[in-house]
Amino acid sequence: LPPFDPADPLGIDDLLEPEDLAVRDTVRRWAADRVLPHVAEWYESGELPVIRELARELGGIGALGMSLSGYGCAGATAVQYGLACLELEAADSGIRSLVSVQGSLAMYAIHRYGSEEQKQSWLPRMASGEVIGCFGLTEPDIGSDPAAMRTYAKRDGGDWVLTGRKMWITNGSVAGVAVVWAQTEDGIRGFVVPTDSPGFAAPEIKHKMSLRASVTSELVMDEVRLSADAVLPGVTGLRGPLSCLSHARYGIVWGSMGAARSCFETAVDYAKSREQFGRPIGGFQLTQAKLADMAVELHKGILLAHHLGRRMDAGRLRPEQVSFGKLNNVREAIDICRTARTILGANGISLEYPIMRHATNLESVLTYEGTVEMHQLVLGKALTGLDAFR
Ligand code: FAD
Repeated sequence: LPPFDPADPLGIDDLLEPEDLAVRDTVRRWAADRVLPHVAEWYESGELPVIRELARELGGIGALGMSLSGYGCAGATAVQYGLACLELEAADSGIRSLVSVQGSLAMYAIHRYGSEEQKQSWLPRMASGEVIGCFGLTEPDIGSDPAAMRTYAKRDGGDWVLTGRKMWITNGSVAGVAVVWAQTEDGIRGFVVPTDSPGFAAPEIKHKMSLRASVTSELVMDEVRLSADAVLPGVTGLRGPLSCLSHARYGIVWGSMGAARSCFETAVDYAKSREQFGRPIGGFQLTQAKLADMAVELHKGILLAHHLGRRMDAGRLRPEQVSFGKLNNVREAIDICRTARTILGANGISLEYPIMRHATNLESVLTYEGTVEMHQLVLGKALTGLDAFR
């Protein structure tokens, strides 16, 4: 029998191909070199001053629009994209958010629903990280029920005129292009908006106590005039943004386990070296029970992510299954972080350790890309056939 590996107790790595391991190692090494030494400082200051450099470097390692093909994208499998999300979020959820929004929301929308001209004009520069993208769906008064959005686009001769506000938009203030969803007389449509368009502004949202190493912004659109070809031709209705969200949520199923792994590993190391009552706290049964329970949920979550990844690669992943994964893995990740926090005692609240940073980040991850309650309602509807949303 192979020896027991505390880093992979279920032997999940046996499911991976050599190319998968190579992707994982590349992203893990990049995060260790470029994020981990600085992220506590970025988090404390609430700023990500090097976001443009990071985006270019992430483009350089093929992490932007990773599972898309053509237009400079890496054409990776869904499992490889998931492994990258896990490694990035093990560093910080903010960095994974940068990558998710760029690849799974903004680029995905253009790749799937854009015209050939839109794809040629934006995707290669987004894949390289030269242009950062954002995705505007949420509004100040509209969150879980995006069908009720108020942002609207009117036709004016051959042009479109876009007016409204979006809120909580990741990457907003640093984006060169915004994919904005708006009401039109034909239903909800997506617009590809260059952020230097007159009437467009993206002030940053300050005072966040979560995802502090991530840029979050408001988008203000005051009669932004766009040419006829700014609309995404391939989709009308909520199906458009929801399909993008499903792709991004899939990345969160993996990513959340990265934050959990970082907290778990920190707790194990600490429990082995911290002594109280004359021996390591990891030698007490109560601490071992915590570590065992954390390991069980962590590796069950990773296994679930793998399962969903394989279904996505086979073209068989349903949105309800993504809801299943997001609901479970983010909830369990938060639980693992909280338990890790208790093992570190007072040190658990310090930024010297990653735990509190991950725990507060995960509060955003629990809410964005569909709240816990929305995913419970998705599953509830799938299980009963009864719609409890309204
Ligand atoms: P609400 O919809 O007002 O919900 C409040 C509470 O009521 C929740 O608990 C919710 O589950 C519950 N609730 C609502 N309806 C029901 C119901 N029918 N039954 C039971 N409970 C219900 N959005 C973007 O478009 N792009 C982004 O890039 C983006 N980035 C984000 C980054 C951060 C850091 C954060 C925090 C948010 C981001 N969001 C983004 C917004 C996010 O998607 C929304 O916050 C989320 O959809 C929830 O909307 P809300 O905050 O308006 O909450």
